[in-house]
Order: sequence, then C-alpha cells, then structure tokens
Amino acid sequence: MVRDGSPQTFGQFGGRYAPDELEEVLEDLATEYDHLKDDEEFREELDELLRNFAGRPTPLYHASSLSEEYGATIYFKREDLVHGGAHKLNNALGQALLAKHAGKERLIAETGAGQHGTATSFVGAHTGLETEIYQGKKDAERQRMNVFRMEQMGATVNKVTRGGSGLADAVDAAMEDLIKNNENTHYLVGSVVGPDPWPRMVRDFQSVIGEEAREQILEQEGKLPDAAVACVGGGSNAIGLFHPFFDDSEVDFYGAEAAGKGLDTNQHAAPLSEGKEEVYQGMRTRVIDDDVEVHSIAAGLDYPGVGPEHANYQELDRCSYRGIVDEDALQAFQDLCKYEGIVPALESSHAVALAKELAAEMDEDDVLLVNLSGRGDKDVEKIAEEYLQD
Ligand SMILES: *Cc1c(COP(=O)(O)O)cnc(C)c1O
Repeated sequence: MVRDGSPQTFGQFGGRYAPDELEEVLEDLATEYDHLKDDEEFREELDELLRNFAGRPTPLYHASSLSEEYGATIYFKREDLVHGGAHKLNNALGQALLAKHAGKERLIAETGAGQHGTATSFVGAHTGLETEIYQGKKDAERQRMNVFRMEQMGATVNKVTRGGSGLADAVDAAMEDLIKNNENTHYLVGSVVGPDPWPRMVRDFQSVIGEEAREQILEQEGKLPDAAVACVGGGSNAIGLFHPFFDDSEVDFYGAEAAGKGLDTNQHAAPLSEGKEEVYQGMRTRVIDDDVEVHSIAAGLDYPGVGPEHANYQELDRCSYRGIVDEDALQAFQDLCKYEGIVPALESSHAVALAKELAAEMDEDDVLLVNLSGRGDKDVEKIAEEYLQD
C-alpha cells in the first residue's frame, strides 16, 4: 500500500510531534481518514446518524429580545439542542464510525469535566465498541454523576492519579494506552488538538455546524452574517462554525477565550491572548505561560493550549481572539436565561459575552452569528452554590 498519511500543518503550527511508536499508527489513521472522508457510503451512514441519533440539523434562532438589548441582530446556532446537550457528539459520531470502518474494537477517550467522555460513551453504546474513558481523579470526584452516567452506558472510567490529576494527565494516559493497544484501539480525541490528523479530522466532523448555519442564515436573512462568534477551549466548536465561511472575507471571525480572573492575573486559559508558541501534546501551537494556573469558570475551556489552526488564524489575522472574564460570562448566562428563555453552557456564555461587546460596536442591522455550543443544565448547580448566593 502506498502510504500518504503525511502530517499537515497550518502555517507554522500543527504537525505531528509524536513518539516513534506512534508515527506509523498516526500515518495509518490519516490514510484511513483521507480515504473514508470522500466515501459516499461513509458519508451517508454518518449523515443518517447525525439526523436520527444526534437530532440534526439544529435550528438557527433569531434572538429578538437579546438583539434589542445588545444592539445588533443576533442569531444563535443551537448546538445546545444536539443529543447530550453539546456539539461534542458531532465529532464523536464521526470518529466512532471511522473506528468501526477501520476494524477497531475499542474506543478510548480523555475527558475533563465529563462532556466528551459522555459523548464517547453514547457512541460506544450505539456502535457496540468497547469504551474506556480516562479522567483525572480530581475531575472524576467533582463529576460523580457524569462518571455514573458513562458507566450506565457500559463505559469503563479510569481515574488518572499522575501529575495534577487533571485533563492534561488524562490525555497522556490515553496516549500511552494507544501506544500499547493500537492494533485494536481508536483514540477518540475530543477537540481540534493533538498531532495530525486529529485537528483537521475533528474540524471536518464539526464543520456541519457552519455548513448548516451558512445555508440557514442565507435563507432567513438573505445575506451572510457580518461576524461569526464562538467560544474557544480546544477550539472545535469555533473552527466548526468558521471553516465553511473561511473564504467569505466579508464575514469577520471572533473567538472568545477564557480570561478567567483576568488576562493580567495568573489564572486564565487564554493562550492566544497571553501565551507563547511551543510544542505541546503532539502539536506546535500556543500555550499559556508556565506561571499561569489554568483556570476558567467553564470546565470545557479549562485547557492550557489551543488547536493549532486557531494559532494560524490569529497569525493570518483571519480571526480576532478576545479574553472574556468569568464575571462577564456569568452575566451573559443570566442575560440569555432572562431575555430568551435559553439556559446556555458556561462555555457558550463566553461567546454570548463577546457578542455583547461586539454588538456595542455595531449597528442594529448588523448580523452576528453566535454558536451556542451547549446547554447549561450541567452548570446551574455550581452557579447557584458558588456564584449567586445572597
Ligand atoms: C467542551 C465544550 C467546549 C469547548 O470545546 P471546543 O473544542 O473549544 O469547542 C465548548 N462548549 C461546550 C458546551 C463544551 O462542552
């Protein structure tokens, strides 16, 4: 077989920085993916699952009250209505199907708060593939209901005790599992991060967000939006929204990073606003400084690095990234509840807060397309207990 699984880069970022044992595994994965992504049968099977299992297409919703309050015409792409309550299932379905076609018997995944572990458990149960989740012990203890839910779907949850017992340690543990068991195992990475081919593969699976939104906004507004806005953790929901608009130069892109307690403090998760270029977890990208403790009110944004394609979008000036502090995200969460009757995830609330900033700089006819990456049911208890006490 001719191997053409050579690593792709995004400008100076991305690539494939992996231990020797993984080189061939990743090359094979890239080759398999390049072959399958244009395969008609694979596309049809995935489309059917996206429709009938995930609940796509998701609506594009004109938020008229919030538009009036914020001062621009605001539309939400409702990924909060995907099965499981977030965009993560789009990617999990794509990779699980890929694993099945590649003849794998086992899925593994990392998870932080448990959202991606849950999405992987859904698709593990659906496909019948054996599923093992790696989660930092600290995270697993804080998220016991998510652990229980994953186990109900037949997944095994491995609690990782090394390092800081967090997300980065769970990724390392999953990589080691892949090195040992690559013959029968697919590592279902949860965002546009890691070595090639994951950043581009996850981007393609999430691009269904932008593809649908582009058609829907043309139908509902009769024109493309003036700006597209999304929150950025690893960056998968944002790149999924942006990618289909990449060549539409009239559509400005805005990414909301977690500024945590403030960009000038040492508690945030904003590598694009305040970070440095380095090789991290298999990719060249931007990472927060060593003296910064990774922090966000939103568990899904609590990651020290970012997808390499975002680092390149920034380099190309294609997207502006701004930090949103915890407090502003919390205010946006309350705004969306109050004006629209929608309870957003705290991650998505960062995008809403950025939309508020942008709307203040725009005219009321200017159209903002905002990705609502997930619903906030998972966050209400924490918000009630920690942030909104009288
Ligand atoms: C995981 C998560 C995110 C962050 O991940 P990205 O890869 O940056 O999209 C954002 N929103 C929600 C609701 C999530 O669950």
